[in-house]
Amino acid sequence: MEKTFYIETFGCQMNAHDSEKVVGTLLHEGFAQVEAPDQANYIFFNTCSIRDKAEQKVFNRLQHFKNSGKGKILAVIGCVAQQEGEKIFDRAPHVSLVAGSASYTKLPEMLVQLEAGNRRVTGLSLETDQTFDTPFTSRDNPYRGWITIIEGCDKSCAYCVVPFTRGPERSRTSASVIEEASRLAGLGYSEIQLLGQNVNSYRDPSPAGWDFATLLDQVGRVAGIRRVRFTTSHPRDFVKPIVDAIEANPNLCNHVHLPVQSGSSRVLEAMQRLYTREEYMDRIEWMRGARRPIAITSDIIVGFPGETEKDLEATLDLLDEVKYDSIFSFKYSRRPNTAALALGDQISEEEKTRRIVIVQERQRAIQMRQNAELLGEVEELLVEGRYESTGQWVGRTTRNRNLTFSSSASDLLGTYVNVRVTRSGPNALMGELVN
Ligand code: SF4
Repeated sequence: MEKTFYIETFGCQMNAHDSEKVVGTLLHEGFAQVEAPDQANYIFFNTCSIRDKAEQKVFNRLQHFKNSGKGKILAVIGCVAQQEGEKIFDRAPHVSLVAGSASYTKLPEMLVQLEAGNRRVTGLSLETDQTFDTPFTSRDNPYRGWITIIEGCDKSCAYCVVPFTRGPERSRTSASVIEEASRLAGLGYSEIQLLGQNVNSYRDPSPAGWDFATLLDQVGRVAGIRRVRFTTSHPRDFVKPIVDAIEANPNLCNHVHLPVQSGSSRVLEAMQRLYTREEYMDRIEWMRGARRPIAITSDIIVGFPGETEKDLEATLDLLDEVKYDSIFSFKYSRRPNTAALALGDQISEEEKTRRIVIVQERQRAIQMRQNAELLGEVEELLVEGRYESTGQWVGRTTRNRNLTFSSSASDLLGTYVNVRVTRSGPNALMGELVN
């Protein structure tokens, strides 16, 4: 029987990159990837459990395959797999494989068990000092290559399930990161994005002992690499040498994503975020003081238990003060095992919706003004796509903004071009090619 697989991915960039590794491993094991589940005999769901809604989506998808998945092997991998473990077999008895991200190195062995007819295979151990760097990664984006530098998280943010689903922190050696960056450069990639739950706490386990700022700088010095980004940061571990590295090395992108979560120190303490608003603002000042303009983006959670109107005001005030280039905003979601479950004063869904709308409207007005300030500026873009409907090209600036422009050139994909910004909106920039 031909071995075919279909994979659906939910969640963050870490998950998307994990899927690239899983796909690469499956292809190496002789599987063929197909575009639709009905063409596949193995169906993989790479899952996210950061919010209840994301988790429910996975179980809805599994339900859908209860009958139509007959004769196929269903696999649940990723965060929901790690969190729910063998309980998934009870809720969805038609599932055959449940494996968390720390077990992906064992995927070939688990496939052998499935092929041998075992219908209850698990990979749920978090007892690993291995990071999942496989040579078989199959990359979706031909221009920007993701590299995982650290897995897991040692923080205990009160709302977050990640330490339970991805385990403790494990950093890769600097040599293996540099080797992967060099390999990608050799394949024609010019942009690298370093990934981890908290890249700032990277600690090279080899005798070289590099910290994150050193690693970042060195990846930016790999021949052929023109841009380096990183996601995501924790303000507590975000140190001045990271900003110094960005200032000193033009290949490091002018963009930092620094999730604040709340503008109220009282809420930050309840969230166990380990910094105050003032300490967070110190980091913002480091970036604002840099000679290159660094775009700053963030994550905001509204409706954390006990958040008052005054706390919400503090968050809105923070948005005005920092003037983020963009934010991701979320309603607090109760997650299993987390400390926040024990907190009283839960906020209703309706109220959370009211608050998120207020936050998003405030941020929209800020972005409208921020983007208007870019009118007339010339930005260098890495061209990453073309809209079929309009024929326009789209690329990303070093400050992580998408910019759309027209050109009669037959193929600009993967090239760097200069574009003058001619139109702006809260979420979009348009421009014209500059010779
Ligand atoms: S730093 Fe906090 S929010 Fe980020 S993954 Fe770790 S526990 Fe979760």
